[in-house]
Amino acid sequence: MRTSIATVSLSGSLTEKLDAAARAGFDGVEIFENDLLASPLTPEEIRARCADLGLTVDLYQPMRDMEAVPEAEFARNLRRARHKFELMRRLGADTVLVCSSVSPQAVDDDALAAEQLSRLADLAREFGVRVAYEALAWGRHVSTYDHAWRIVETAGHPALGTCLDSFHILSRGSDPKGIEDIPGEKIFFLQLADAPLLAMDVLQWSRHYRCFPGQGGFDVAGMLRHVLRTGYDGPLSLEVFNDVFRQAEASPTAVDARRSLLVLQEAVGRAVLPEPVVPTGVAFAELVTPDAEPFAALLGALGFTRTARHRGKPVALWEQGDARILVNTGPAVRRDGTQLAAIGLESPDPAGAARRAEALLAPVLPRRRAPEDVPLDAVAAPDGTELFFCATGRPELPDWRADFEDTGRPPAAGGVRGIDHLALTQPWHHFDEAALFYRGVLGLTTRESVDVADPYGLLRSRAVTTADGGVRIALTVGAAPTDDTVHAQHIALATDDVVAAARRFRAAGGSPLPVPANYYDDLAARFEFADGELETYRELGILYDRDDRGVFRHCYTRTIGRVFFELVQRDGGYRGYGAANAPVRLAAQHAVRALTGG
Ligand code: MG
Ligand code: MG
Repeated sequence: MRTSIATVSLSGSLTEKLDAAARAGFDGVEIFENDLLASPLTPEEIRARCADLGLTVDLYQPMRDMEAVPEAEFARNLRRARHKFELMRRLGADTVLVCSSVSPQAVDDDALAAEQLSRLADLAREFGVRVAYEALAWGRHVSTYDHAWRIVETAGHPALGTCLDSFHILSRGSDPKGIEDIPGEKIFFLQLADAPLLAMDVLQWSRHYRCFPGQGGFDVAGMLRHVLRTGYDGPLSLEVFNDVFRQAEASPTAVDARRSLLVLQEAVGRAVLPEPVVPTGVAFAELVTPDAEPFAALLGALGFTRTARHRGKPVALWEQGDARILVNTGPAVRRDGTQLAAIGLESPDPAGAARRAEALLAPVLPRRRAPEDVPLDAVAAPDGTELFFCATGRPELPDWRADFEDTGRPPAAGGVRGIDHLALTQPWHHFDEAALFYRGVLGLTTRESVDVADPYGLLRSRAVTTADGGVRIALTVGAAPTDDTVHAQHIALATDDVVAAARRFRAAGGSPLPVPANYYDDLAARFEFADGELETYRELGILYDRDDRGVFRHCYTRTIGRVFFELVQRDGGYRGYGAANAPVRLAAQHAVRALTGG
């Protein structure tokens, strides 16, 4: 199906918006009136620019407060409309959006609304324009799609149809099944947006919190299925008002937008993409750092052994159980220093996983390798983290470890079994995009979003996981654009005995993150513990949480650069990540940073 995007969904000047939409592969655009008014280009120049970029102008929007008004007022509205239709002819736009009136002058009279919209459509037809009438969720007298359709049906004018907008329909809780009663050819336009489920004024909700389909809580795919059953064959167009997108760069937003439509079209059976190849585990986590020594000390204290080194690059492999950490001190190190830069995902079909990622517009990374190296398929996640699709110890597939030569030191049997989860701080404007990326590209499941209080702001956190928890990635974002670098990334290591692991870490010279005594006093009030249990946690800096299934015990190392480690013991099917303890952990990390200046 053809895809389109409203210019209001992207930041920048009109030309920047058009460029970004075209580069992301959209077929057309809705031109938002204010974008045109603010542009130095004439309508003819905008039309030519769109044509050069291969974009059609699918809609001009919006025209407001037209219908069901006293005759004198309507005469003024028609004069206003004539100007717009003339402009649309110059622009090459053949459909105009008319929103249901919010004017105090409008009366509750469907017959009058139908009659005036019909006259408006008469005028539009002289200019080769079609009128698409849309019910705003906060319209004065018309606020539901079925009401707007009844008026359009009453008017019975060939140049008058309806525009359906998923936000207006789903935010009001209307049953979208009734859409199937509208003939497809009378649906002149379809606007799609999702939104998080919030209890707030619908106008504010719409203006600030819309997001791309698949990023919020609406069943946009379900609504779209009803629309497609009518035979609608116009574009799928994104109309998203969002405070974050307004500030973010247009190009990545446009790519995010297109990806959301690809995933949506796949969901309704209108796009055939390579099948998702769900990863089965974490093969490795790769840290880049200018200085390997602090990590050598930390990983050693955690019980890891440097088992191998890369044949051609300054990369060391540290292992314990199924946890594998690469420490890379090579030129690939980014300017901003120490960080978790890459994740190796255990994939049953690495090439297939890469094909899926590419089809969903993930940048495919060049293979940084010497000729004899194992070819690894890799793509970039929205935050720049490199995702390698690879295989560990499976005879039918090339093993990434073939590029490494053993140091002759086998891993010691320590307390760490593997990687429990990885936590990645997202740049401010990539949070919703990241969740959709991991779901769409990797076939992971997105868990509910939780807010976490930090002493200096509020974080939002959302996990993406496989069904069995073999891959768990916790995505976190700060509440403000300036937060990007403050919050660290972490690697959580799974152990069956966190007390023993924490003791071993201490005995080996590791320094755990100190946890305030007040935290343990509060734990004593919230939970019952066996004799001495709480004292052990207090002594070792172990935090405690419980859900309806089980218990979570965890502790943290100090931070190096942006990276720290967590030891976690998950018992009885506990599903979370200790979010209840995150404020205490964040405060402790701030305190350490203040002390060390690090
Ligand atoms: Mg709309
Ligand atoms: Mg964690």
